[in-house]
Amino acid sequence: MYLEKLEIQGFKSFAHKTTLTFPAFAKASAGKPSVAAGIAAIVGPNGSGKSNIADAVRWVLGEQSLKTLRGKKSEDVIFSGSGKKARLGFAEVALYLNNEDLSGGIDYKEIIIKRRLFRDGTSEYLINNSKVRLTDVQLLLAQANFGHRTYSVIGQGMVDAILAASPFERKEFFDEATGVKQYQIKREQALHKIVTTEANLTQISALLREITPRLRQLERQKEKLEKRSQIEAKLRGLQLEHYSFLWRKTEADLKRLAQKRNELAARHNAAKIEVDRLSGRLEILEKEQKNAPAFEALQKKYQEALSRKSEISFEVRGLEKELVALTSQTPERKAANIDAAALAREAKKLSSFLQKVSQAKTADDWQKLQTEARALQTELERLLETKSPEKDGNAKEKISKHLEALKQTLLSASQEASQAEQALSEARRKEQGATSEVFSLQKSYQIKQQELARLSNEKNQVEVELARVETRHEDLSQEISKEASEYLQKEIKATSSPAGEAKDLWPQIARAKHDLEMIGGIDPEISQEYSTTKERHDFLSTQAADLKNALEKTKQVEQELGVIIEREFNSAFTDIEKGFNEFFTLLFGGGKSSLELHKENELEDLSEEMALSLNEEERDKLARSFRIGIEIKATPSGKRVSNINMLSGGERALTSIALICAIIRANPSPFVVLDEVDAALDEANSLRFAAILEKLSRHTQFITITHNRATMEQASILYGVTMGDDGVSKLLSVDLEKAVRTADLHR
Ligand code: ATP
Repeated sequence: MYLEKLEIQGFKSFAHKTTLTFPAFAKASAGKPSVAAGIAAIVGPNGSGKSNIADAVRWVLGEQSLKTLRGKKSEDVIFSGSGKKARLGFAEVALYLNNEDLSGGIDYKEIIIKRRLFRDGTSEYLINNSKVRLTDVQLLLAQANFGHRTYSVIGQGMVDAILAASPFERKEFFDEATGVKQYQIKREQALHKIVTTEANLTQISALLREITPRLRQLERQKEKLEKRSQIEAKLRGLQLEHYSFLWRKTEADLKRLAQKRNELAARHNAAKIEVDRLSGRLEILEKEQKNAPAFEALQKKYQEALSRKSEISFEVRGLEKELVALTSQTPERKAANIDAAALAREAKKLSSFLQKVSQAKTADDWQKLQTEARALQTELERLLETKSPEKDGNAKEKISKHLEALKQTLLSASQEASQAEQALSEARRKEQGATSEVFSLQKSYQIKQQELARLSNEKNQVEVELARVETRHEDLSQEISKEASEYLQKEIKATSSPAGEAKDLWPQIARAKHDLEMIGGIDPEISQEYSTTKERHDFLSTQAADLKNALEKTKQVEQELGVIIEREFNSAFTDIEKGFNEFFTLLFGGGKSSLELHKENELEDLSEEMALSLNEEERDKLARSFRIGIEIKATPSGKRVSNINMLSGGERALTSIALICAIIRANPSPFVVLDEVDAALDEANSLRFAAILEKLSRHTQFITITHNRATMEQASILYGVTMGDDGVSKLLSVDLEKAVRTADLHR
């Protein structure tokens, strides 16, 4: 790899696009010299803009230090204008690297590194025309073995700066010089990655710590929720079975009882109608009995008719006797005709009359006795009357007539008596019939009444039972609406499967309800929250695992890089030390020089107080890390000093050059720009330096800005820089090898 071309436009005094091309260059390899001399010299008067070329190289390689770039602001690198030329809006430098040998493990045959800066502050880096970051440029350069900040462009002040720097600052320089910078960049990136990964891991771990207990809690709640759903489903099943059975049973009971009640009501009604009918009938009969002619009256009437009939018959017989007596009357017969019984009765009456006479006291008693005496006399006369024959004829007729009349009367009396008897037996028959109907009615009535009472009782019982079932039905309906969801209620009531065997499911239902109560209410949103949290937890866990993995790998890489760095550094350092001695004795014509490494443990460097304030991890880290410094010892021949501070300016410059040359040789950069490095050298040392440069140029391309003739003479191409009164640097090139060849031809 070598620098093929440099394009500068708008950068500092190079207002116009200026191109510096360098001859083809190939490193000498074992036994093979380089194909072209690798030295280009840039010459010109003071202030013409030579160092601006070195600045341009620095700048394009990513220099950030304004001081190194000899400016105060970043835009100071843009052409600021002159009396004759206006200032420009941007600066651009492009570095063309030929990499046909594909060195540095870089696959591109040409690498163009470009940097642009606009006045508004926007800047960009491009590698092969693709925009990149500064770190990409730095990595590429480190890979290609550039020491952009140090020795790829060695400025006027920098020569001494190596000596003036502290041992630790010097280490920085050596890091680039030993070629471990690329590993250091990678290591820093790895360390940075470790820090950010650790920070991320800490953050994720904190989140996980925060989220994990919540997830556990949610997990438990979710399990509970699932258990709850299971129990709820079981409970629904049990309730469905239990309530639908009860529901169907009560419905069936209701139907059966209603039917029974209706039946009983119908029977009761019929019985009631019958009872009413019987009672009506009884009432009528009783009324009829009450209204029937009095039996005694009929009997009396019959008795009266009988006694009248017998009286009349008696009289008829008396008259008939009288008539017979009249017809055949003799005194004896006459006497015989006297009614003895009547006479006896009259004698009794007379006896009682006589008794009353003996007892009579008052006139009134006498009066009554007189009346009674007359009646007795009349009766006795009637009994003892004796009739004359004429009188008898008359009497006969009279008696016959009377007898005839009496017989008539007797007939009607007989008729009357038989009528009365008939009426009486009719009445008796009627009464007997009525009584027996009443009895039978009363019996039926009684039976019906009993049946009615029984039906009524039965009906009441059924109604009570019905009311009880209705209440149970109502209670059940309320219980169902309280216990079951609307959907389940419908299902319970709609289930039409046969009721089947009654199972006592209540203990199981109670158990399920108890279990649900024990689980308690759980927000159904838990499920959603659980999956979101689980998702997040899983995501974080995976991330944490990935980060741990990455961290592990990065730590491993970092450690490996540490080992590489140490190994490479030590190896390069030994080479540099060797070269330093060599070049030092060459430049000084003898003398002694050395490089010493100082390792300082960072933990030991800390104050006790500071060390105590660290945690174990930090202490460990510091115990393992070392600060390395590099001490330069130089004793020119014949002198005793070894402290570089005691060297003269020229001696210091020579010592620096020896070190720079040693570095360049030990770890050749693709090209090195030397900006008046040889300024302080006397002629003899200039020649020595030129000889060294020539040697080194077999492996490294040099672009040297110089006023030194000896150096110029080593160059294969010479660029002259001038600046006119427009403040713009201009370039003239002289291909010395070509010129020499042309001169030889003309000779
Ligand atoms: P010497 O031989 O004395 O070291 P030199 O040739 O190296 O000189 P430089 O330092 O490269 O000179 O150039 C300095 C010149 O560049 C100055 O004249 C300065 O005015 C000019 N210059 C620096 N920055 C700018 C800028 N931004 N715009 C225009 N000109 C600039």
